[in-house]
Amino acid sequence: MGNIKNTCFVCKKEITQETSVLNQVVNMPVCMDCYGTDNEKRVEKEVLESLADGFVCGCI
Ligand SMILES: [Zn+2]
Repeated sequence: MGNIKNTCFVCKKEITQETSVLNQVVNMPVCMDCYGTDNEKRVEKEVLESLADGFVCGCI
């Protein structure tokens, strides 16, 4: 498995600092192909929700 810092959180493609941007919302890198796309927004939301599940409550 690759380091999370070298993987686009949207498409899981391998990236480098030169080919990626840090998504400030989830603090994870995103590749240029996914950056600014609806897909990015969708996965961003999923990541936030999964984080919230872990941190906030087990009430669902
Ligand atoms: Zn990507």
